Amino acid sequence: MFALARRSLPRWAVGSLPSANASQMAIARHRLQSTLAILEQRDGVLNLGSLNAFTAAQKLGGEIHGFIAGSNVAAAAQEAAKVEGIDQIIKVQSSAYEKGLPETYAPLLVENIKKGNYTHVVAGHTAFGKNLLPRVAALLDSQQISDVTGIETDKTFVRPIYAGNAIATVESSDSVKVITIRGTAFAAAIPGAGKAAIVDGVDPQVSTSAEWVSEDLAKSDRPDLGTASKVVSGGRGLKSKEDFDKVMLPLADALGAAVGASRAAVDSGYADNSLQVGQTGKVVAPELYLAVGISGAIQHLAGMKDSKVIAAINKDADAPIFQVADVGLVGDLFEKVPELTEKVKNG
Ligand SMILES: Cc1cc2nc3c(=O)[nH]c(=O)nc-3n(C[C@H](O)[C@H](O)[C@H](O)COP(=O)(O)OP(=O)(O)OC[C@H]3O[C@@H](n4cnc5c(N)ncnc54)[C@H](O)[C@@H]3O)c2cc1C
Repeated sequence: MFALARRSLPRWAVGSLPSANASQMAIARHRLQSTLAILEQRDGVLNLGSLNAFTAAQKLGGEIHGFIAGSNVAAAAQEAAKVEGIDQIIKVQSSAYEKGLPETYAPLLVENIKKGNYTHVVAGHTAFGKNLLPRVAALLDSQQISDVTGIETDKTFVRPIYAGNAIATVESSDSVKVITIRGTAFAAAIPGAGKAAIVDGVDPQVSTSAEWVSEDLAKSDRPDLGTASKVVSGGRGLKSKEDFDKVMLPLADALGAAVGASRAAVDSGYADNSLQVGQTGKVVAPELYLAVGISGAIQHLAGMKDSKVIAAINKDADAPIFQVADVGLVGDLFEKVPELTEKVKNG
């Protein structure tokens, strides 16, 4: 960017410019940068977890704007505006964007990205972000950088590949860098005393043949799996949905934990899809992750191995889960879990 600015001057003027050193160039590039962080909402309530896009944007430097759209987003925009260090929140109030359908939301974002001339676009690597950003990247002719866990410079990013078995450092030369970030790698920014300006974005009102029909959400009063500080996950060892509910739910309630599951448990119908932890499910990093009747396949580990303390209950002492566990209990889960639940309740 700095070199471009020099080139746009008349030839005689370029010769008279003092030569910039590397740090001056970095500062100049920093100033020219601006990031649009995409925020999520449901029924007008800001998803506080999505404020991790602000944290990533702060690492990139430069100006930071937030973007939110939906039927009734005024309150959510105000909440996001309280995050310190944010310059502007762009809101688009329209029921067309309430469900985040990529067919309409992507052209909406692209219009606003072009208008704001952003150098970076950041969203969470969530169902919403994964659904939306590839289409945005395609419309901008950028190559998306997915599931980023580290930001080294404004164009160099770290991301796990092969289910977390290798870590790639990638560099992008695209003029707009379209990035999804792994939630567990960037703590969500917290609304404080910030006073970002709230402005209305442009609404291209693109029509689409895609239509939102319905959703079937598992409702639970337990903590949210993606953000809970404790997670208890059950696997195929639970044998049936009845046993999963009978054994795992009282333990979750005694610990105040969210419930997770392996893919085998989900595929067998023991637990809802939204509870799957792993490569093709959610990635979690709670203070405590307790795996019950889970073997510890690599695809499961990809979703929980960054947890602070990993505990496991399994009847097979050679189960791979014990290789990553900080605490292990070898035994029959149908005996050990009810025992543990009683101890937690009484203690
Ligand atoms: C492309 C791809 C993506 C995948 N994505 C995911 C993913 O996101 N998440 C995921 O979890 N998997 C994923 N998988 C599947 C993964 O490979 C494993 O098949 C799955 O994790 C196994 O689940 P499990 O550990 O519950 O079952 P199993 O491997 O069958 O293990 C069951 C365990 O329960 C123990 N057990 C049985 N009975 C008892 C008892 N009474 N008491 C104590 N222990 C007992 C057994 O010793 C065993 O270790 C993916 C696979 C592929 C190919």
